[in-house]
Amino acid sequence: MNEKACSTCHLIATGNVCPKCKTPTLSDDFSGLVIIFNPESSAIAKVMNIKEKGHYALKVR
Ligand SMILES: [Zn+2]
Repeated sequence: MNEKACSTCHLIATGNVCPKCKTPTLSDDFSGLVIIFNPESSAIAKVMNIKEKGHYALKVR
């Protein structure tokens, strides 16, 4: 599986376009995996401005 991370919202995706924000600039150069289950009660989600649960990259280059 060829996972990439969205450069805008940091969502981990496998296609060429982010399924969340439709950004076509996905990077395979990312580090750190954050799994958000409950955005309302997650401090990381608040810091990263994530409002939906899912898998996100910590850093995207
Ligand atoms: Zn995105």
